[in-house]
Amino acid sequence: MTPAIAAFVWAIGLAAWVLIRVPHQRRARKIQVVKNARTLGDRLALAAATLGLSAVPLLFVVTGRPAFADYAFQPGLGWAGVVVELMFLAVFYESHRQLGKNWSVTLEIRDQHKLVTDGLYRYVRHPMYLSFWLWAIAQFLLLPNLVAGAAGLVGVAILYFSRVGHEERLMRDAFGAAYDEYAVRTGRIIPRPW
Ligand code: SAH
Repeated sequence: MTPAIAAFVWAIGLAAWVLIRVPHQRRARKIQVVKNARTLGDRLALAAATLGLSAVPLLFVVTGRPAFADYAFQPGLGWAGVVVELMFLAVFYESHRQLGKNWSVTLEIRDQHKLVTDGLYRYVRHPMYLSFWLWAIAQFLLLPNLVAGAAGLVGVAILYFSRVGHEERLMRDAFGAAYDEYAVRTGRIIPRPW
């Protein structure tokens, strides 16, 4: 494991993210939105996550900046980063597949929206956000630069903490008691086995 290979793995992850997401974005455009809960705050949070998971690390991978934040690359961390990156892509892919037509980039209820409670959604209410956390952790492990590494964690934290409560309120308004029951059985991003 070398810094170049680790940076390559990070870049493959970004490319795979685009490939997985684009078909869902295309399909979502065709499905009518019946309730839109997107706010300026949510758009800014989305921008923060995008900046932290793509623009800032891309700058580092391409130009090596900001050099002051470099630290010595440790192969063990790089390997751990590969494992977490694979977990990210698996959970990201599956959560999109399982959410299907109910997916939105922001907070929306769509025509014939169904509450998904099986597959990964049987264990956690937010597997896609779990995959974002895994992505940010993988980035931190793969890139030996504190700014590029931490940018993803900061961006995901902003998106996750500003959004998750609003999203659950939106779902509760749309699905009532069914969502409450579902929420009792599941964790947000960590399964609740008891
Ligand atoms: N928070 C989920 C979904 C992210 S996509 C996850 O992390 O996997 C965001 C959209 O998914 C929101 O517009 C919301 O309406 C919808 N959504 C969230 N949970 C859902 C569920 N269990 N079933 C159906 N739609 C859901």
